[in-house]
Amino acid sequence: KKIRVAVVFGGRSSEHAISCVTAGSVMAAIDASRYEVLPIGIARDGRWVLPPADARLAISDGRLPEVDGTGSALALPFDPDAPGLMVVEPGEVPRALGGVDVVLPLLHGPYGEDGTIQGLLELAGVRYVGAGVLASAASMDKGYMKLIWQACGLPVGPYVMITDREWRLERDRKLDEVKQLGRPVFVKPARAGSSMGITKVTRDEDLAAAIEEARTHDPKVIVEAGVEGVEVECGVLQGVADGPTEASVPAEIVMLGEHDFYDFETKYLDGTSRLEIPARLPQDVVDDLRATAIRAFETLDCEGLARVDFFVTPDRRLILNEINTMPGFTPTSAFPQMWAATGVPYGELVDRLIQTALARPLGLR
Ligand code: ATP
Ligand code: MG
Ligand code: MG
Ligand code: MG
Repeated sequence: KKIRVAVVFGGRSSEHAISCVTAGSVMAAIDASRYEVLPIGIARDGRWVLPPADARLAISDGRLPEVDGTGSALALPFDPDAPGLMVVEPGEVPRALGGVDVVLPLLHGPYGEDGTIQGLLELAGVRYVGAGVLASAASMDKGYMKLIWQACGLPVGPYVMITDREWRLERDRKLDEVKQLGRPVFVKPARAGSSMGITKVTRDEDLAAAIEEARTHDPKVIVEAGVEGVEVECGVLQGVADGPTEASVPAEIVMLGEHDFYDFETKYLDGTSRLEIPARLPQDVVDDLRATAIRAFETLDCEGLARVDFFVTPDRRLILNEINTMPGFTPTSAFPQMWAATGVPYGELVDRLIQTALARPLGLR
């Protein structure tokens, strides 16, 4: 009997479209002789649907794909005697979708990469690929991520968090704190991805507007001191069985165009960056980077997979930028490319992630 894999994509975050692209590539690579794939879309408004079979899941002519909400609606029964999703068609009796063996939550950003859907799956007693509730939530929030890394002695740069309450009630004090970081700074939504809502600020008078821009994505904002150096990423995989956590060959991000940093357009649309794999770094720096990536993964209690983003300063110090518990996963994304260069090709990578999730015990672990 085939293993039934539900692939969940789209979602409520600003990274909806990127999730669709990721899902399209992963579904194309899943071995159909061993797995039965059940695509489940989440529209931007949060509705769950069985998307039409011909839904476009790639970027074409610069147009981003989406789950538009058409297709049969899905609902949770919240009934312990009727586990699993129900298909709800107008005028028809809801029918059970049937059980799934494992869920691939290919969602980026809030309501997907942040522990919320992981909590839902824990409650439902369904196995899933990737980080659990705590690791997802802590890794989504750039403030808590850094707090945990700092506490564990891992290298992070200077930053200031600004909660919604602080911005509303103590704006001037927070702006003074931010000014201590020097220039430039990077103003970011605390919980987002794909560079959404991020502004590089070089002048004090532009700070408030950048913070307001980040706040359109997340009421919690982080302002980080700009780090000078090369950007390098590293893929991490949970070990096989009880084996050790593994780190990939690192990738270096090479900026080609006039963009100031690795922003959304550079990442996905205009081809103004490329990946150099392996990164052009001395062997001792690479060894340190891989070991640090593994510690960054383990200190956050991650499972399955993650991509750890670093800066390597001109004097060859490592600074952790962030971790992504569900990194971009198209064949041209950094995570699969780094693993391919490490000896794990795309299809095998997807297979390994599903198998790791299937082998994981349910409940507290
Ligand atoms: P993703 O999840 O897609 O990797 P993200 O939205 O979580 O991205 P970051 O990776 O934190 O955002 O930042 C996006 C980009 O902004 C970085 O790849 C880098 O080019 C630039 N950047 C972010 N923070 C800094 C910093 N402190 N110093 C210098 N550059 C930075
Ligand atoms: Mg990120
Ligand atoms: Mg991300
Ligand atoms: Mg990043």
